Amino acid sequence: MAENAHMKIAVLTSGGDSAGMNAVVRAIVKTAISKGCEAWIVREGYEGLVRGNTEGHRHTQSVEKGTATPRPKHVENPDDFVHNLRFGDGELLKDGTGDHLGGKTLRGRYIVRVGWDDVRGWFAEGGTLIGTARSTTFRTWEGRLTAAHNLIKEGIDALAVCGGDGSLTGADVFRSEWPKLIAELHTQGKITEEQVKKHAHLKIVGLVGSIDNDMSMTDLTIGAPTALHRICESIDNINSTAFSHSRAFVLEVMGRHCGWLALMAGVACGADFIFIPESPPDADSWEDEMCQKIQGHRDAGKRKTIVIVAEGALDSKLQPIRADFVKDVLSQRLGLDTRVTTLGHTQRGGRPCAMDRILPTLQGVEAVEALLEATPETPSYMIGVRENKITRVPLMDAVKMTQEVAQAISEKNFQKAMSLRDPEFCESLEGFFATSVLEHEPKLPHHLRMRVAIMHVGAPAGGMNAATRAAVRYCIMQGHKPYAIHNGFVGLLDDNVHQLSWLGVDNWMTRGGSELGTNRKLPDIDLGAVAAKFQQYNFHALMMIGGFEAFNALRILDQGRKNYPAFNIPLVHLPATISNNVPMTEFSLGSDTSLNALVDACDAIKQSASASRNRVFVVETQGGKCGYIATMGALATGACIVYTPESGIDLDMLRNDVKFLKRRYAMDAKGKSEGRLVLRNEVSSDVYTTDVIMKMFKEEGGSLFDSRSAALGHTLQGGIPSPMDRARAVRLSLKSMTFIERHHQELLKQQTRSKQAPPESAAVITIQGTSVQWVAVQDMVEHADMKNRRGKHSWWEGQRELVEALVARPQILAKK
Ligand code: ATP
Repeated sequence: MAENAHMKIAVLTSGGDSAGMNAVVRAIVKTAISKGCEAWIVREGYEGLVRGNTEGHRHTQSVEKGTATPRPKHVENPDDFVHNLRFGDGELLKDGTGDHLGGKTLRGRYIVRVGWDDVRGWFAEGGTLIGTARSTTFRTWEGRLTAAHNLIKEGIDALAVCGGDGSLTGADVFRSEWPKLIAELHTQGKITEEQVKKHAHLKIVGLVGSIDNDMSMTDLTIGAPTALHRICESIDNINSTAFSHSRAFVLEVMGRHCGWLALMAGVACGADFIFIPESPPDADSWEDEMCQKIQGHRDAGKRKTIVIVAEGALDSKLQPIRADFVKDVLSQRLGLDTRVTTLGHTQRGGRPCAMDRILPTLQGVEAVEALLEATPETPSYMIGVRENKITRVPLMDAVKMTQEVAQAISEKNFQKAMSLRDPEFCESLEGFFATSVLEHEPKLPHHLRMRVAIMHVGAPAGGMNAATRAAVRYCIMQGHKPYAIHNGFVGLLDDNVHQLSWLGVDNWMTRGGSELGTNRKLPDIDLGAVAAKFQQYNFHALMMIGGFEAFNALRILDQGRKNYPAFNIPLVHLPATISNNVPMTEFSLGSDTSLNALVDACDAIKQSASASRNRVFVVETQGGKCGYIATMGALATGACIVYTPESGIDLDMLRNDVKFLKRRYAMDAKGKSEGRLVLRNEVSSDVYTTDVIMKMFKEEGGSLFDSRSAALGHTLQGGIPSPMDRARAVRLSLKSMTFIERHHQELLKQQTRSKQAPPESAAVITIQGTSVQWVAVQDMVEHADMKNRRGKHSWWEGQRELVEALVARPQILAKK
């Protein structure tokens, strides 16, 4: 590690662009600098590596015409952190004119030293600001030889590559050939003996930037969530016109070898039929099958039809399935007025969603750690993510596995292709079938069929309706009867209970709020009366969708089992709350929607703050006594200070915050001050309210900065739920249904008249690390801070440190 200190780390983006690449570059640059390394960017992917910096920085014929410009001064003392902050003034790469793509400042320079402020505000930008390219020259030995020489000339010894499987393969080839490249450069007299020794090894790390989510060994690739947002926005918009005209729409979405986008969009938008390469339909019968299914939906009363076709969709004989052909089949066979919409490059563009800001940031930080820890013996790592945990896997293992999927498809081994995708992919496909199928004959025999009650408890959260829709559709497929309990336990006591239908929930995927109506009242308002209602309606199971109240309600019902036999049925809680405060689960439904609402609002606020240059905006968030939304929101918006209930607020803290802000504003280049964000959870302190803090900053800022406040309030519940919340809702809801079925069948085996449900049949479905786990409510109680209505341990609390690291707070405060 010591030997790696003061390393020169370069980052490049390669292959197709994707949202989130800028967040990767920002995180790598900032982390590298804060670890005492030099940060460099390579423009135009591998092409820039090959072009390098023309001698004396004059352009050659391969580079755009222009005048030579001096390069920025190198900092002599790498420990001069504050100098490094000011190394760039935020304008070097980004001036809105595309200057960074060969304009006068950087003409003839493709490998550029950058400073902290050069990557300022990169979060909100789509695509990649450092440019990307597909380089044929880099595919050749000569190209890579020149690239190696260019790196050595600048003294760079570590490279972070963000791109698709092709780019990561290129990175691996480069690293494995490195000793030979060095030897040849030495033989040709291009590098000295000393340079040979100093650059004996190249350290490489890969980050997967690809909108297709086509890389194995990681759950999500950078840019895929944003592309899914773009697709779902388009489909949500198409839905209304499809409904108005009773039309069918066939949408072609990206995904040459991977159907993730088509599948997730199909699940999240409630499509009628999807075509993905991993699970091709029977070549001889898919047209009949599709028509039969869609006609069934129409017969049930549906006015609109949505079919999603992945760009690389095939049938079982590997014949491509094209959107136009699907349209012809629907028009000719079913007489539907059918239109084709090809979403094309709109899927790549636009502002990154919250997840494409947070994950690339965490991955960028990890990439620098991996480079710092790299030795000649360690493999090149690919930084990935598995159910919310940032992971390192050997880069070539991931590339190999990814290529095996395409290979399996070409060999018609579709089972293998599916098995190489992550479990969530397979579960989502099952989820799509379960929620889109409309069987004439239910699957289960009569004696196993149930009356399932579904209730929303607490405040509304994005995904509640999607989860309900999935549960209803599954129930109907199996032969169960799904009942809505409107308005929580109060509604139950008022007999506000209705059976839900397949068609009745059709449009619920995209609906925010709570279609069932929700209430915070717990069952102990009158436990006996609640039990009587359970008995009256003869419920065999209950699913509650909600936040901390739902957990509390489950606890009360579970305790009530000993006195009220009606509660001896499977009882399930599916966490849904924007506060994300349910113990033991890392994600509740609604938390992603809420983060996106926060990011949208903060982008707008930051724009206003930046327009007035030196304004600090104190933004108040909801979240109850849980700082999740404020902390992750700070990470997603680049806020410089975050106040949470867990940490509280005291005078010393505020004194340091003012000191930090004053110093930071004083360091801004003249005329280049920016607006800055401070996020404050609404109940972080009774005394130091948002208004007090804003006024304090205003007073103390003097001529350096001004301050304003904004309260986001209920806007954080979001409008339309995010695609991730919808897809997650379907997955968790279906798992809840199978859990209920399993426990119901176990109870049926009991021979006694009054059945005794085991404790594990009253449980919460949680996401923990890499898996979905059931936790009996009795076991969960010890992990709950009942007074503050949150878990005792929060996985995200450490992220506050990262928020501070990414604004260089420790170094700025330590400055003499
Ligand atoms: P996308 O998923 O968007 O297609 P990608 O990274 O897979 O992204 P590619 O065009 O396959 O895109 O690769 C990008 C660049 O990586 C290529 O233009 C080339 O410069 C380099 N590259 C790819 N494969 C190799 C290889 N085997 N050897 C050397 N360089 C390679």
